Amino acid sequence: MKKTKDYSRAKQLYFKPEINLCPHCSQPLKRSHIAWQKSIFTLKETLHTTSYAYKCKNKNCKNTKETYRSTEAELLSLKHYQFGIDTISQNRPPILPRPLNHRRNQTNGSVLIYDIL
Ligand SMILES: [Zn+2]
Repeated sequence: MKKTKDYSRAKQLYFKPEINLCPHCSQPLKRSHIAWQKSIFTLKETLHTTSYAYKCKNKNCKNTKETYRSTEAELLSLKHYQFGIDTISQNRPPILPRPLNHRRNQTNGSVLIYDIL
C-alpha cells in the first residue's frame, strides 16, 4: 500500500518581489496572485515555498499587465523541478544553460531565465 507523503514539518517560505514600487510609474505594487507554490527539497531541509506575483494597479501606468516576482525564490530551484539548486549541483556535472528567448527577469531586469539543454 502506498503511503501518503507528509510534508507538514517542511519550513514555510513566502516570497514577494524585491521591489515595492513600479519601475515605470513609482506607485506601490499590489499582490495579484500566487505565481507558483511547491515543495523544494534541498540537502538540508524541505521547504514549502510560495511565490507571490505583484502588479501595478495604477490605471494610468502603461505596464499594468507586467508581473513582478521574487528573484530569490526563482533561484531556489529550476522551473518545473522540486530539487534545490544545491542538490542538483552535488549530484550532476555542471549543466550548461542556454538563454530562453532572452527573457529577462521582470523583478530587476538583470537576470536571464535559462532553459536546461
Ligand atoms: Zn506602474
